[in-house]
Amino acid sequence: MENKAQTKEHLDIDHRVLGQRLDMFSINEDVGVGLVLWHPRGTTVRRIIRNFWEEEHIKGGYELVCTPHIARGEPWKISGHLDYYRENMYTFEKDGELYVVKPMNCPFHIQIYKAKPRSYKELPIRYAEWGTVYRYEHSGALHGLLRVRGLTQDDAHIFCTPEQMEDEILKLLDFTERILKCFSFHKYEVFLSTRDESQPERYMGSDEEWSQAQKALAKALKKKGLKCKEMPGEAVFYGPKIDLYIEDASGRKWQCSTIQFDFNLPKRFNVTYVGPDGKEHWTIMIHRALLGTIERFFALLLEHFKGNLPLWLSPVQVQILPVGGRYLSYAKKIHENLSQMELGQKLTKVSQQLIIRLGKLKFRKSLI
Ligand SMILES: [Zn+2]
Repeated sequence: MENKAQTKEHLDIDHRVLGQRLDMFSINEDVGVGLVLWHPRGTTVRRIIRNFWEEEHIKGGYELVCTPHIARGEPWKISGHLDYYRENMYTFEKDGELYVVKPMNCPFHIQIYKAKPRSYKELPIRYAEWGTVYRYEHSGALHGLLRVRGLTQDDAHIFCTPEQMEDEILKLLDFTERILKCFSFHKYEVFLSTRDESQPERYMGSDEEWSQAQKALAKALKKKGLKCKEMPGEAVFYGPKIDLYIEDASGRKWQCSTIQFDFNLPKRFNVTYVGPDGKEHWTIMIHRALLGTIERFFALLLEHFKGNLPLWLSPVQVQILPVGGRYLSYAKKIHENLSQMELGQKLTKVSQQLIIRLGKLKFRKSLI
């Protein structure tokens, strides 16, 4: 049994308690369980993360895309979701037609890729999106920001040729490491999930495709010097994957980043490119999320930093405290000026103001 001090310590780092205490988010039964309301402070943190994420992705060779929250049933019929995943999807009818609230972004990114014929010269193509998706979870499974019904994935899909696979995975691992470091996460466990070689019939894709993809993942991990645990038989039916578990300040592991090959969707949606031989070839498709879902990552940040987010992520970066009523209008002016600035500028400006104020005081003192 936990004693009082232990309980208090657990509450001090529980993201649900911290989220309420810091006025970041709430979950309201009238709106619906598992559906998060982001308050101004929480939204500010999300915006900072998103701006950083988008800028880094553009520098990293990604193109940002934006896709709808609902779609006709058609893409989900082709993807197989309506056959195998329907009980986890929100569906509705309009004008006698079935619509789906998206449970994932993949079919939309595929449609953007397929908007015109693709040549090997254009590849790799990397599409990234902060995509909010909805999945039905049993109410008993819901837990704060860790298990929700509306979630935002920092999603991306990479379309490339088989020759580009290994290089792309290596780039991705570099990119993941760089982004996680910026959030001060340096320790993680890496898992490589491969197929059960004794039951190849359980999996989509040819033997050649699987062995090439598994080799590309293992080789890239080795080149990066990342130790990984191989998990034979743990791959999903459509492709092998790498999962990263981030270790937080209390030593707990959080599943966040995932890099996943897919031999299923390219075939279902007929995703191809024209090679140097003038013939059509299957495009290699990689799903990846670095932070995982923003909700889970947010919970991790709150618990890791015990609510004291680093300055660049903090929703309140500067406070102006007038020492008396007659300084109120001056304080408001400073507030207005600082609101127009980026964080870096803000800090320089604040320190300049302080120097000016201190300078004045010194000057006055010397007059007396
Ligand atoms: Zn995907």
